Amino acid sequence: MRVFVLDSNKKPLNPCHPGKARKLLNHGLASVFKRYPFTIILKEEKPLHESNNYQLKLDPGSRTTGLAILYDNNLIWAAELNHRGLQIKDALLSRRQIRRSRRTRKTRYRQPRFVNRRRPQGWLAPSLMSRVHNIITWVNRLIKVCPINKIVQELVRFDTQKINNPEISGIEYQQGTLFNYEVREYLLEKWQRKCAYCSVQNVPLEIEHIKPKSKGGGNSVSNLTIACRQCNQAKGNQDIKEFLSGKPNILNKI
Ligand SMILES: [Zn+2]
Repeated sequence: MRVFVLDSNKKPLNPCHPGKARKLLNHGLASVFKRYPFTIILKEEKPLHESNNYQLKLDPGSRTTGLAILYDNNLIWAAELNHRGLQIKDALLSRRQIRRSRRTRKTRYRQPRFVNRRRPQGWLAPSLMSRVHNIITWVNRLIKVCPINKIVQELVRFDTQKINNPEISGIEYQQGTLFNYEVREYLLEKWQRKCAYCSVQNVPLEIEHIKPKSKGGGNSVSNLTIACRQCNQAKGNQDIKEFLSGKPNILNKI
């Protein structure tokens, strides 16, 4: 790992060997500018001899993103960036639950808000957006301390569905998160327009979460089924195994 060097005008110079940096620091020719990434600043101005062969390589991943700086294909600096995807998801979830519980308490009237619920173009899920912001922050940080002239990014398409459910296949996979009415149609077909729990026909059927949302169940089609109002209400917050404890056949089918 090399140490980043700035001249007295904060222009990035060629990164140097840690031994050389230690020498400069010990002789009082430089001081520490930043600890992460470790950067020293020279006390005197130095003519910038330009070498533009520094390359920043990015290797994005869902949990971590790899950062590497190469000089003539030699690795001179590398780091791994840990993303906060799950933390962000949990934070938003707890906020939602707090707001939801607020509605049932006796609190001051708060006007409903609709307009700010619209998603702007290019919207990404907060956990994904944080990944993008993390990478941009670090790229900006690095180009300030190293004369990078080329950025190479491994092209990866995040498959968010596979991240959520690695066993996803068939119709779910092709259609992704279906529009609501498509989900309904699909579920009605799947269960032959009968309640999944009691097989009643010709009654209004509702979309039902197999693993309740309150217990962390998601909206993916694999967690949805169709049920009559009575069954839906009878099941409520129960676990599917609890609710169908007396009907092993139906439980297996679902
Ligand atoms: Zn039913």
